[in-house]
Amino acid sequence: MNKWIVLIVLGCLISCKEEKKTSVKEQNMITEAIEKIILVGEKIAKKTTREAEVIQVRENRRNRLLHLDDEAFVAIRELSDGFAYDIKYATPDNFLKKAVYSCGECYIRGVVAKALIAANMDFNKQGYRIKFYDCYRPLSVQKKMWKIFPNPGYVANPKGGSVHNRGAAVDISLEYMSGKPVDMGSSYDHFGKESRHSYTGFSDRILKNRKILRQGMEKHGFETIRSEWWHYNYPPKHRFKVADFQWSCN
Ligand SMILES: [Zn+2]
Repeated sequence: MNKWIVLIVLGCLISCKEEKKTSVKEQNMITEAIEKIILVGEKIAKKTTREAEVIQVRENRRNRLLHLDDEAFVAIRELSDGFAYDIKYATPDNFLKKAVYSCGECYIRGVVAKALIAANMDFNKQGYRIKFYDCYRPLSVQKKMWKIFPNPGYVANPKGGSVHNRGAAVDISLEYMSGKPVDMGSSYDHFGKESRHSYTGFSDRILKNRKILRQGMEKHGFETIRSEWWHYNYPPKHRFKVADFQWSCN
């Protein structure tokens, strides 16, 4: 009789133990499944938040553009992320051989910013984007440049102030959407005949590249100057005042 009781108790213990084992295993599976669901949920939430943020940024930019004053200075980066930047005067890679800006930024008058965004959208359709070398330039920097290189063919006399000082000129090139530079034949701030629009000593491809840039900018109201393929004024009918503020680098 005792033997039977022991066997029953043992049997019960084994089966209970097995039941417990299965239960733990199942519990682990449930926990794992819940963790997966949470993870997926978090990913969706993050994605949704990101999408909402992107929509919000676009909406803010659209509103800013709609209400942008023609004369107001604006950092074009705040209106569009479709441009590339290589602000040479924030580096020693320029004809002054030293940085004269604390950081690279492209400030420009509101009306010019709108025209640049429109021109850039056209370039995008052709597989390019605008790359900025220089935009608004403080008058004090113009004075430094004139001291080093007083040649009115390439540097404007600070007495009258340049179109850059008025926030209505940009120095630009094009790059492919991959970030690869478009060959314009001569480098930015190359003060020689090769930088003139009239120079024809380059390959057809280079001449075509310059033509794409020029036509794209002229279509949106910009004007060239004879000696520099990279320089565009906008628009001569606006006579903005010379400015001398330095932008914040925070
Ligand atoms: Zn220029």
